[in-house]
Amino acid sequence: MIAAERDAASVQPARLPVYFDYNSTTPVDPAVLECMLPYFTTEFGNASSKTHAFGWKADEAVDYARQQTAEFIGAEKDEIIFTSGATEAVNMALKGVVEAYRGRQPHIITVQTEHKAVLDTCSWLEQQGVQISYLSVNRQGLPDLTELEKEISAETLMFAMMYANNETGVIQPVEEAGALCRERGIFFFCDATQAAGKIRLHVKQNKIDLACFSAHKFYGPKGIGALYISRKNPRVRPAALLHGGSHENNFRSGTLNVPGIAGMGKACELAAATFQHQADSILKFRFALEQFFCENNFASINGSVASRLPNTLNICLAGTDSATFIKSIPEIAVATGSACTSASLQPSHVLRAMGLTEKEAASSIRFSMGRYTRPEEINFAISRMKKFFAGIVQHHT
Ligand SMILES: *Cc1c(COP(=O)(O)O)cnc(C)c1O
Repeated sequence: MIAAERDAASVQPARLPVYFDYNSTTPVDPAVLECMLPYFTTEFGNASSKTHAFGWKADEAVDYARQQTAEFIGAEKDEIIFTSGATEAVNMALKGVVEAYRGRQPHIITVQTEHKAVLDTCSWLEQQGVQISYLSVNRQGLPDLTELEKEISAETLMFAMMYANNETGVIQPVEEAGALCRERGIFFFCDATQAAGKIRLHVKQNKIDLACFSAHKFYGPKGIGALYISRKNPRVRPAALLHGGSHENNFRSGTLNVPGIAGMGKACELAAATFQHQADSILKFRFALEQFFCENNFASINGSVASRLPNTLNICLAGTDSATFIKSIPEIAVATGSACTSASLQPSHVLRAMGLTEKEAASSIRFSMGRYTRPEEINFAISRMKKFFAGIVQHHT
């Protein structure tokens, strides 16, 4: 062992296991928590109470957070609807638009590699008689937009495509899709949940008509998210799913989650101010991991190398499967990239759609890094994995 390696191996991270699963959720930033706390206790008012200062204070906090959230994606304040998260926002966008613009036979186009929030909602809509087309992707995880062009018909209402994939980090051709949808007169709904806080979002510039994101993916609290709905050019009016009190401009009734909303606003402000700086250092971490896996032929990268979020690394392991890897190295917290439904470990629909075999998909894992990832954590992971791979080689010889 060379000295540098020995030093790296001897530096233990402050906390084990090391967290490499920022794409599934993130810790709340201390500044976000601090911003939320008063709204649980002293400033506990109902934002809809118009008759006293308790209500006014809460309403002011919501108004301020709505401005922060809108600025974060380049939208106007009155285009933001707070929801319980991205899943609810996806349901609102897809079901709400179908309900409001129901033609004789509505048609929606989406992509095979979308998040389950979109795919499961689409399959529910299919059962209600809505026609859904699923675009395929290439090995890089990218759809071919000439296929989108061919699929658009007079009945097509909307195209739903994510900004960046949660499993692979592959950034989708959003700008091109937006331009095409606008030209053909269909709505463009973009699930920006994984891109928010990692790259700059421009809903207007990219001609996105509806977009959703969730605070807990970028250092805000869980249980709060937002749906952006364009109010002009075009004006989109999805039908409401929740009725009872006409909150949120009649789109989403129910007493507002004021602490959550205040926290989301703060998380947006922090992300906008820091994401570029963070992306640079996170990219160095990702390169170090990539170099380790690729130079030793321990793994190959899944998805486009060029069009990818800086924090995400999805790899296909050589000579082992993800279950063995995860069981053997409990000191690092990574994801299999597949939704673990109850007892059965389903091979990822994203990787399968990209053309990986079932075996390759079952040998794939995802590292996702974030704001609190430290160099010593990367060094620790690499030295720990080195031991694991050395063990495999020995086993095989
Ligand atoms: C996490 C995620 C969702 C769901 O977000 P929730 O907060 O669980 O509702 C939807 N889409 C993508 C791309 C995601 O990464």
